[in-house]
Amino acid sequence: MKKLRLILGDQLNSKHSWFSETNKDVIYCLFEMRQETDYVTHHIQKIVGFFAAMRNFAKELKEKNHNVIYFNINDKGNTQSLTENLSRLIKENNIDNFEYLSPDEYRLDKQLKDYCTNLNIASNVFSTEHFYTEKKDLETFFKGKKQFLMENFYRNMRKKHQILIVDNQPEGGKWNFDASNRKKWKGEALIPQEISFDINVQEIVSDIEKAEIKSIGKINSKYFEYPISRKQSLKQLSYFCEHLLVHFGDFQDAMHTDKIYLFHSRISFAMNTKMISPKEIIDKVLDTYRKQEDNIDISQVEGFIRQILGWREYMRGMYWMLMPDYKKENFLENKNKLPNFFWTGKTKMNCLKNAINNSLDNGYAHHIQRLMITGNFALLTQINPDEIDAWYLGIYVDAIEWVQLPNTRGMSQFADGGKIATKPYVSSGSYIGKMSNYCDACSYKKAKKFEDDACPFNTLYWNFLDEKQEKLSSNFRMKMMYSLLNKMSSEDRSKIKEKANHIIENLDEY
Ligand code: FAD
Ligand code: SF4
Repeated sequence: MKKLRLILGDQLNSKHSWFSETNKDVIYCLFEMRQETDYVTHHIQKIVGFFAAMRNFAKELKEKNHNVIYFNINDKGNTQSLTENLSRLIKENNIDNFEYLSPDEYRLDKQLKDYCTNLNIASNVFSTEHFYTEKKDLETFFKGKKQFLMENFYRNMRKKHQILIVDNQPEGGKWNFDASNRKKWKGEALIPQEISFDINVQEIVSDIEKAEIKSIGKINSKYFEYPISRKQSLKQLSYFCEHLLVHFGDFQDAMHTDKIYLFHSRISFAMNTKMISPKEIIDKVLDTYRKQEDNIDISQVEGFIRQILGWREYMRGMYWMLMPDYKKENFLENKNKLPNFFWTGKTKMNCLKNAINNSLDNGYAHHIQRLMITGNFALLTQINPDEIDAWYLGIYVDAIEWVQLPNTRGMSQFADGGKIATKPYVSSGSYIGKMSNYCDACSYKKAKKFEDDACPFNTLYWNFLDEKQEKLSSNFRMKMMYSLLNKMSSEDRSKIKEKANHIIENLDEY
């Protein structure tokens, strides 16, 4: 019985049970395809990263004596469509059985389900054996509940997997050390030189150019900075544990013009392609902590584990609970167009200039830059969430819809009306000034409101609350801000409106 097994570009799990034995009647296939490069405009480093990791993975499988068929983007027989490539291989190789790993993305899941329904040979789907949870576990956990609080899920995960738990209680006496994760970085904790792998990706860049794939952002083709093999992914993890974990929690929310990555792990690309698993990462972090308890505080460790065991698994569960309708949600009815400077980085607002240029240059911005700079600004200026999704899905090397969409539409844009975030993540310039040094060298002044050089966030913030009052004022967590807004004089409120409207109508001039 001849089997064809499909491996998608984000399913590069070499520890999967599929690969525990070799069988000459099993063919593995991987395809570089226009179907995947063109459904949104991706960052060039994202396309290169995926192709490079896929090519390495196929090579490693071949070295372990597995049968592999790999289609490069420019191969003659490559139809550029997933299902047409599969049909071609099934026919050419007299396949009796088609097997695939369950896609994490709704779009691909549907495409493969539909394909198998019409297939005249047997087909099977298998788990990717990557996540702690199965796709529908979160839905079961929250069944009958009106609120889907991440914290409740996270505590349950800690108990279930006995992570930082002593006698059924949280180690260190608290479930969550978030309050101590909010320091501003002023240069006092030294940040070691970031790890890089010195990978030459010129050949892949040439292939992409030859295929004329449209992309955004920059690349240094002689010096690719993301891990593209399991070995490099493990190296990145060790580097994080050795050098960065010690201050991860402290400066998790900090932003700085000189330091793009601060103490962040940059492990998301390796993890989202499944070259490394969340369990391996958490085990290694715990092991490092146990060996260095005198040196590393539990708040750093808990802060990091919460992101992976909590947020990452939660976002995936929410995606699978709420798709496909989730993709259309626009609770706040935002309709404005994304300013052009999101694609060029050309703005006088220093915070946005830094966050956007980091994204264009590196395919990376850390969580608070995504949430409280670009996301905050997009929400305050009431941009259509479809445009925001396309930007986030394209620009980050780690962007795959199952994790990008709930973070963007839910957590960052409140377009789901509060299924993920309990209140909108919006702020004026003072929060940005508190967490970064961006305001120091900005053309605008964070303490000013109405003058020509006033920080645009200040009026946009109050204008947003004003315009969305009907939808947001009943939110318990917004009560205090609405009571402040409603105490403002009508003169001030109309000045705010006038200034904010001017900003919104002329976004690319700011
Ligand atoms: P670290 O800060 O070192 O954190 C470690 C790991 O925790 C990350 O690698 C990631 O896997 C996980 N993690 C942390 N926060 C989250 C979160 N909110 N949701 C899921 N996992 C989390 N993450 C993506 O992987 N892909 C995306 O497309 C993506 N889009 C985002 C869009 C917006 C608007 C926002 C606010 C966040 C988004 N995130 C996304 C979450 C987070 O910003 C990135 O995971 C993180 O910045 C990756 O960098 P890192 O590996 O250095 O993370
Ligand atoms: Fe951003 Fe306003 Fe600070 Fe400038 S002053 S960096 S626009 S928050």
